[in-house]
Amino acid sequence: MKLASLLKAAKPETDIYVFYTDLRAFGKGFEEYYKKSQKMGIKFVRGKPSHFTENPFTKQISITVEDTLSRQVIESDFDLVVLANGMGLSKASDPIANFLKLAKSEDGFFKEAHPKYKPVDTLVEGVFIAGTAQGPKDIPDTVAQASAAAARVMVTLAQKEFKIDPILAFVDQNKCDGCEKCLENCPKNAIVMNGNGKAEVVEALCLGCGSCIASCPTEALDLHAYTSDQLYAQIDAILLNKPEGEKRILVFADNNCTYRVADALGVRKMKYTAETRIMRMPSSGRVTPNLIMYAFKKGADTVLIGDCEINNLPVPWTSKVGKENIEVAKKRLEEAGVQGDRIFFEEFNAGALQRFIDTVTNISETMKGLQPITSEVKEGLCQRK
Ligand code: SF4
Ligand code: SF4
Repeated sequence: MKLASLLKAAKPETDIYVFYTDLRAFGKGFEEYYKKSQKMGIKFVRGKPSHFTENPFTKQISITVEDTLSRQVIESDFDLVVLANGMGLSKASDPIANFLKLAKSEDGFFKEAHPKYKPVDTLVEGVFIAGTAQGPKDIPDTVAQASAAAARVMVTLAQKEFKIDPILAFVDQNKCDGCEKCLENCPKNAIVMNGNGKAEVVEALCLGCGSCIASCPTEALDLHAYTSDQLYAQIDAILLNKPEGEKRILVFADNNCTYRVADALGVRKMKYTAETRIMRMPSSGRVTPNLIMYAFKKGADTVLIGDCEINNLPVPWTSKVGKENIEVAKKRLEEAGVQGDRIFFEEFNAGALQRFIDTVTNISETMKGLQPITSEVKEGLCQRK
C-alpha cells in the first residue's frame, strides 16, 4: 500500500490495482492511510489473479481475476506486475540462532520468553529481540520494541550480581556412572562431563524444564524443587488411603498453564470430578515414565499430563519430551498386561477452565469401563518401593 501510494503520488497518471485476499489496517492511522490510498485512485480488488500471460508484442502482462465482492471477472493488461510475498525470518539468522540456542515460534520468527510479560526477552538470559526478528512490524512498533529491549539491556548491565532461578537440574555425583546418556537430551547443551568422568549441569544455561531427567538410568540427574524423592513422596501422599472401590485421576499439571487453570477453578469455586488429584510440575517434560508407573503402582487408575499449548510453551521442547515419555510408559503398561487407555495428554491455555472440567469428566467416564490393576501387577510396574 505504501509503495503504491508513493508511485501514485509521483506519477498520478498511472493506474494501480492491488489484488488481495485479506486486508487489515490494524495500526494507528492505518485505516486513514488505506482510505487516502483509495482517494488517490488506487483500486483495491479482493480476488486472486488466476492467469498471467505475456503479450509477445507489447510485453504487457495480461491478468484474469475474479473480484469476489462484485462477482465480476476482470481481464486487463499491465506494464508491471509485482508479487507481494509474506514476510519471513531471514535464513542468515540461522547461524546466530544455533549459536545462541534461540527458540523460534511456529511462524518461523524468534520466540519471545512470554508474549505479555516478557515481550522483548528470549528464553536465553541476556539475549533480547526487537523488530522483525520477532515478527512482521512497522517502523513505530519496531522503534518502541527496540527501546524496550535497550532498557532491558541497561537493567541487565546495571546489576552487579545476577540472580538466577533456583529451579535447575543437578547431578548427584555419587549416583552418576558417567554413561553420558543425558548429554544428548538437553536441547540447551547445559549438561557436560567434568574432569571426574561424571555429568555436571552448567547452571547458567539450564532452564529448569526437567526434560533431561528421564534420560538418566540411575536417577542421578534431578531437578531442584522437583526432585524425584519429593515427587515420589507427593504421589505416596496423594494416593495414600484410597478407599476400596474408588478411582483416581492423577493430574501432572505443568506450572505455567495447567496448574494455573486448576488454581483458577479453585478460586472460582468451580466443581470438577472428585476423583481428580493434582500435582504441580515444572513442565510435562519432567514427568518421567518412572513417575507415571509409580503413580499406577500406588493406586492411580488414570494419569493426565497437561502442558501449555504449543505456541505458549515457555520452553519449546517440553511437550515433545512429555509425549515421548508417555509412549515409553504406555509400552511398559502394555508389557505388564495392563488393559485400556490410562494415560492422557492435553494442552491448556490459562483460560481453559471449562475444557479442564470436560477433560477430567471424560476421563472419569472412561475409567468406569476400566478393570482395577491387581496388586500383583502393580508391584511389578516400578522398582521403587
Ligand atoms: S532441566 Fe532442561 S535446560 Fe536444564 S539441563 Fe535439563 S533439559 Fe537442559
Ligand atoms: S545419564 Fe545419569 S548416570 Fe549417565 S552421565 Fe548423565 S547423570 Fe550420569
